[in-house]
Amino acid sequence: MKVPRQIRTYCPRCRRHQSHAVSLYKKGRDRKMAEGNRRSVIRKRKGYGGQRDPRQRKFSKTSKKQVLLLKCSVCGHIVPRLGIRLRKIEIVG
Ligand SMILES: [Zn+2]
Repeated sequence: MKVPRQIRTYCPRCRRHQSHAVSLYKKGRDRKMAEGNRRSVIRKRKGYGGQRDPRQRKFSKTSKKQVLLLKCSVCGHIVPRLGIRLRKIEIVG
């Protein structure tokens, strides 16, 4: 899917339509001490001893949900737009 670099849409902070800069949401760096990471399989697999849990090999989904970040050009408020499943996304223009 092709997405324009500029979209004119509603800004909840300005409470009216403004032009927004479009970018793609990307996952940030993992925090090592986060709860889920402390109990994670990755941590348990370290050191002596083998694989503890079976690895997931079969995935039912073949694509990821892509989230667009819309940044208001007037107030700078960023709104994530609900992700849709897409094989390929391209920001054009
Ligand atoms: Zn705004």
